[in-house]
Amino acid sequence: MKGYCGKILIVNLSTGEIGSEAIGDDIYEMLLSGVGLGAYYLYRHIPAMADPLGPDNILGFTSGLLTGSGSLVTGRWMVVCKSPLTGGWGDANCGGTFSPAIKRCGYDALFFKGISAQPVYLYMDNHGASLRDAAHLWGIDTVESESLLRNECKAQKKPSVAVIGPAGENGALISGISNDSGRMAARSGVGAVMGSKKLKAVVLAGSRRIAVHDSARVKAISKAYAIKIKKAALPKIMKGWMLPLMGKMMAGSKNNALMDGLAVAAMNKKWGTIANNTVGVPNGDSPIKNWGGSVKDYGWGKYRHLNPDRILRRHTKPYACYACPIGCGGISAIQDVRDGRFKHTHKPEYETCAAFGGLILNSDLDAIFYINELLNRAGMDTISAGGVVAFAMECFQNGIITKADTAGLELSWGNADAVIELLRRMIQRRGIGDLLADGVKKAAEKIGAIAQPYAVHAGGQEPGMHDGKMDPLTGLHFSVEPTPGRHTIGAVVNYNLSRIWEFVSWAPKVPAKYPKDKDYAVNEENARKAKANSCLKMILDGAGGCLFAVLTGLNHWKIFDWLNATTGWDKTPDDYMQIGMRIQTLRQMFNIKHGIDPKTFKMHDRMSGKTPLKEGPLAGIALAIEPSMQSYWKELGWDENSGIPTQQALDHLQLTPLLNGEVF
Ligand code: SF4
Repeated sequence: MKGYCGKILIVNLSTGEIGSEAIGDDIYEMLLSGVGLGAYYLYRHIPAMADPLGPDNILGFTSGLLTGSGSLVTGRWMVVCKSPLTGGWGDANCGGTFSPAIKRCGYDALFFKGISAQPVYLYMDNHGASLRDAAHLWGIDTVESESLLRNECKAQKKPSVAVIGPAGENGALISGISNDSGRMAARSGVGAVMGSKKLKAVVLAGSRRIAVHDSARVKAISKAYAIKIKKAALPKIMKGWMLPLMGKMMAGSKNNALMDGLAVAAMNKKWGTIANNTVGVPNGDSPIKNWGGSVKDYGWGKYRHLNPDRILRRHTKPYACYACPIGCGGISAIQDVRDGRFKHTHKPEYETCAAFGGLILNSDLDAIFYINELLNRAGMDTISAGGVVAFAMECFQNGIITKADTAGLELSWGNADAVIELLRRMIQRRGIGDLLADGVKKAAEKIGAIAQPYAVHAGGQEPGMHDGKMDPLTGLHFSVEPTPGRHTIGAVVNYNLSRIWEFVSWAPKVPAKYPKDKDYAVNEENARKAKANSCLKMILDGAGGCLFAVLTGLNHWKIFDWLNATTGWDKTPDDYMQIGMRIQTLRQMFNIKHGIDPKTFKMHDRMSGKTPLKEGPLAGIALAIEPSMQSYWKELGWDENSGIPTQQALDHLQLTPLLNGEVF
């Protein structure tokens, strides 16, 4: 076996038993590692209709097949479980250093079953794994807990720590899992599942190495990519204040034009995701005022405060995930205006800036820094938290939530101080915070039908900060993925930057320039592009790859070559896309097993423009979302009316034995 360890760790938290299971080479060839290995294990071992917060749910930490191989931008880890937000398949993805740490302990994945009677953490190094008491850490935030655990678990090698904060401990369904002092695997409610198991942390301090089939070839591919990334740079005259002009030009253009992904790499190197802060508002990508507003509500006078250059002024050092030459992250110094507690923090990502910027009409950048740190330490998903706050504000505006409900909090649009207090209550589940801590879907169900028009979600998940009316494939992926509302799976822009048609025989070719209207058509070509996005993302999540590497173009980031050189396989890109399709279908079958009707994952009507916006760059746009969903399902070989994979598709993907309880 090359590139993978061939075994998984299984921990029963109810009994304290720790064991391992060998995984055959054929499983890796069928499903890679990462999310594919997670789907393989969870489909077989979580009983139908299991309570996501009960002992039958399984929480998995998985590494990527390419992680630790010497390949680049392939160090992401995946958490998998049944999601308490959607009731179906849950996964979340994060960078940092935790993914190689899993493999350095000699495993490809760690799975936790049952529920511990007391708070515990798992410690593992080359000598084995043990469960240790974590009562003294319960209630302590993620950053502080990580620091305490590093001291407590002094090892020759600095341990990597994945840990939950008070949000996950308190069962907030919108909570995530942190590593590297506040980098979050945030989606699907994975932190609540970890909290329900009384598992505070996983501490890994192994030092094993991964065998690679053709190390020289892997290194040669990596060297070529690293040189390209090193050279990728924006013209010196390019400044943050110019970005809104780019956004306006995009909004005004009737055409889409292909660009080289290295330009995106250059932007990511300079600013990271915050480059989109001031592009996304004028071009319509950033949702405004709980998805009901536009740049008319959140104009230049407001969004200019989110200029990425202003954020970089607080930059103290760059930050990169494991084996990543792009390094889109950064550590910033903040002068805290409220309690003076935090000195250094991860630079807020675009998603956080948008969720606590335009979505709630806030332009106080200090508040966004503070909120970012508050939520990272609490272990709460910033996207979902922003969505919930926007929902609460619109309910407040319409008299559905009143000052009597908020104990005096004035939840008016843009009131940053009220937002911070509301978030504290959500983390601690106090008062109105208890209602909101489980996300907009559950809050709206408790309030009643009157709140439904403002409860913007897809299948129970608050969506990422990208408007599908601006990029229709984003809207489609929000609605058809087994993890609905996910912004990182597919978009027109992702497809175009990836240049996947240069590698995959069936992926539609995109001309250098074409009318934007083509992207809105419901047809086989667009459905096939979405299929390619889904399959490619499953390959990434099986290999540990970062989406931002795809955006540099597969012509530069040669994932298929790395996979063959690492494993010794001789697969074509088409073969790998078939594996991606298999993982995607297995995730969908997990949802079917757990009683999910795929049609119910359709995004909220406001997101698709059922009542179109009256102003702004997306005025008048309404997506034909149901026909698009049917077209996607048909293209994947799933039933076009129900979204359920057909028996023919399952047989073609050789999934039938697995679904029948047999191994491949
Ligand atoms: S591009 Fe950014 S998020 Fe992706 S692996 Fe590199 S540093 Fe991490």
